[in-house]
Amino acid sequence: MSNSPLVNYTKLSPNHSGKRNHVIDTITIHCMAGNASVETCGALFANPSRKASSNYGIGSDGRIALYVDEANRSWCSSSSSNDNRAITIEVANNGGAPDWPVSNKAYAALLDLVTDICKRNGIKKLVWSTNKNDRINHKNGCNMTIHRDFSNKSCPGDYLYNRHGQIAAEVNKRLEGEEEVDIAKLISEMTNEQAYQLMQKAELHAKTLDEPAWSKNEGHWAKATKAGIVDGSSPERPMKRDEVIAVLGRKNLI
Ligand SMILES: [Zn+2]
Repeated sequence: MSNSPLVNYTKLSPNHSGKRNHVIDTITIHCMAGNASVETCGALFANPSRKASSNYGIGSDGRIALYVDEANRSWCSSSSSNDNRAITIEVANNGGAPDWPVSNKAYAALLDLVTDICKRNGIKKLVWSTNKNDRINHKNGCNMTIHRDFSNKSCPGDYLYNRHGQIAAEVNKRLEGEEEVDIAKLISEMTNEQAYQLMQKAELHAKTLDEPAWSKNEGHWAKATKAGIVDGSSPERPMKRDEVIAVLGRKNLI
């Protein structure tokens, strides 16, 4: 279990339940309902009598704070079962109710942070639904919940609520873009015929490469081409046996 490397400020809160009882498979984005800096929000969560916290906070300047280790259950969404499985994120607002908008910097940082959380926790895809029943029951892979689902609150505000689909789409685009090709697996599954084709393709590519500067400086390749010892195609590939024999033959060495 790790925390995000994107964190700029850490102020660990005593307001949490210790280790989670569920794997992280959900994201819950909140709004601060105010324009608190990550330091101000951290100071509020540092107060035990507030009995509130979140895993992360994002300020309007785009800085990201860690308040509760990802390994621990934060006190954020008015739902024990949700906060045991969700990473909770409080985002500062640069405007008021009912929209509670967030700054472009905060929004950009939110996309970066959510992408990072998904990657590190093996969440392959974000699934949003405008249907509360889908969200709270995690139907059809739905893995984004909101505070409104568990309490009579306006959180996360209309601005972020209306962008949840867009957040999922953007994060998914980034997650898909980084799907890695496992070259070792690919090669081990290849037939010998396919491997040979791959080598031939690599040789065709090598043929298109220019003669390297050191070879041009020495001038031997140009001389050999002129003398008809080689055919003049690029020296940037290994010589096949028939070609070696041809060279020797042209010099009357066999
Ligand atoms: Zn909230």
